[in-house]
Amino acid sequence: MTNAGDLLSSLDIRPTPLRRAILEVLLEAGMPLSWKATFARLRRKTKADKVSLYRNLALFERRGLVHKILGSDGAWRYCARPGEGTRCPGNHAHFLCLSCGRMICLEDQPIPTVTLPEGFTVEGKQLLAYGRCSGCPPQG
Ligand SMILES: [Zn+2]
Ligand SMILES: [Zn+2]
Repeated sequence: MTNAGDLLSSLDIRPTPLRRAILEVLLEAGMPLSWKATFARLRRKTKADKVSLYRNLALFERRGLVHKILGSDGAWRYCARPGEGTRCPGNHAHFLCLSCGRMICLEDQPIPTVTLPEGFTVEGKQLLAYGRCSGCPPQG
């Protein structure tokens, strides 16, 4: 697995124990986690307060280390995919299971490039498919 400390250093982010722990939670999960799930897993590793988690996730996001996806259930998920590089983080589709709430990255499916009017800037984009995962019985 990618070393969280090295990854932070490579982006000029000071690898404090808390930042390492947050990034490890996301890397170990291997799939996007909701804020709640991230916080719960983080608390199993270390003492952390909510504000620090918010701040550091926002920092990771600004540096392109983490991307977030808004689920059709209204909850943001955070995802770390260091292999993707920082130029266009999150440039892949996602799938959300409406039954168990699990979200997976469809890393081999890039999102189409969007062309914007002059003066507009993209700060994020997402392509979300939702339905049922293989672990959840089909409905009806
Ligand atoms: Zn499911
Ligand atoms: Zn993803």
